[in-house]
Amino acid sequence: MSTIENTQPLACKELVELVTDYLEGSLPAAERARIDRHIAGCDGCSAYIEQMRVTLRALGSIPEETITPQAREALLHAFRDFRAG
Ligand SMILES: [Zn+2]
Repeated sequence: MSTIENTQPLACKELVELVTDYLEGSLPAAERARIDRHIAGCDGCSAYIEQMRVTLRALGSIPEETITPQAREALLHAFRDFRAG
């Protein structure tokens, strides 16, 4: 992980990787800003963040095993379908 501030647009895949840290408030401000910018223009990730926020509130925290590589793949496929439609 580079410490240089990354101002490149965030990919959906990256957002999925960062969502738990984002919701737990443990991301650096620059990373949070990248996510905020991304979800402002991405309905799929906006919906995903909202769903995760509800889940987090319900559970109090997100167990590591909640987001498996398989779940990430399924989400990314769902995003593609969503954006294609
Ligand atoms: Zn996205």
